Amino acid sequence: MLVHLKELVQAAAQADYAIPAFNVFGYEDAIAVVRAAEAAAAPVILATNLPAVKHMPFRIIAPLLRQVAIDAKVPVVLHLDHGKDYDYVAAAIEHGYTSVMFDGSQLPFEDNVRQTRAIVELAARHGISTEAEIGSVGYSDPSLGLKHEYSDPEEARRFAEETGVDAVAVSIGTVHRMEVQGASIDFDLLAQIEARVKTPLVLHGSTGVADADLRRLAASRIAKVNIGTALRMAFGKTLRAEMEAQPQQFDRIQLFQRPMEAVQQAALHKFHILGLGRNEA
Ligand SMILES: [Zn+2]
Repeated sequence: MLVHLKELVQAAAQADYAIPAFNVFGYEDAIAVVRAAEAAAAPVILATNLPAVKHMPFRIIAPLLRQVAIDAKVPVVLHLDHGKDYDYVAAAIEHGYTSVMFDGSQLPFEDNVRQTRAIVELAARHGISTEAEIGSVGYSDPSLGLKHEYSDPEEARRFAEETGVDAVAVSIGTVHRMEVQGASIDFDLLAQIEARVKTPLVLHGSTGVADADLRRLAASRIAKVNIGTALRMAFGKTLRAEMEAQPQQFDRIQLFQRPMEAVQQAALHKFHILGLGRNEA
């Protein structure tokens, strides 16, 4: 069933679990993620970033993912990841996303507040949930030229209160697109933020977080955990192995079977680490 983000993150912030938001790029990974969510009997967030939307425009990917969500036996949010301008976010809302992130993390504080508030007002008119970022979660690729800055607890409080977003992404030690679990989480900073911010919190770049830290974060006020690279690596590595194992095979439906299973297993593992599903490790 297709649902909004707000109620899911409010419940998760209070409880000892967090909901994974997986970046998906088409049908194969989306359906694999939903199968994992159904196996865990847990809600899930399907997120699309700018590369996904450049590959498959809103008018095609939104109806596709909406139908995957509607058909699912568990609650599924269709979420826009890192919307950087008003028109882009507005287009996602028009095409049926149930949650949008506005990323003004590269802007000065006052501009970030002002632009985020405009998005919150637009989304509210459509009954859509919102996420925005304070501080800045950097990228493992320095050539992107994006800043990395830890969230300031007092700024985070002001940001949450002045914008009225439903979820606040914070920077506490993760970095986007890490291929190994090497992030060093600043739990003291998280505690300071938790003491001031009532809004549910979001962690980006979570592929880089060790399982033990992820479990601890799931029990905190972190309610949504973004995971992209881990699934893309599962898909890509398995597809490469399949092509090497079956050099004569050219049928993509056949070649995609094991990579889809690998994505499903990788996603299911994350559910368990985040405190969801029956077979908790
Ligand atoms: Zn992110």
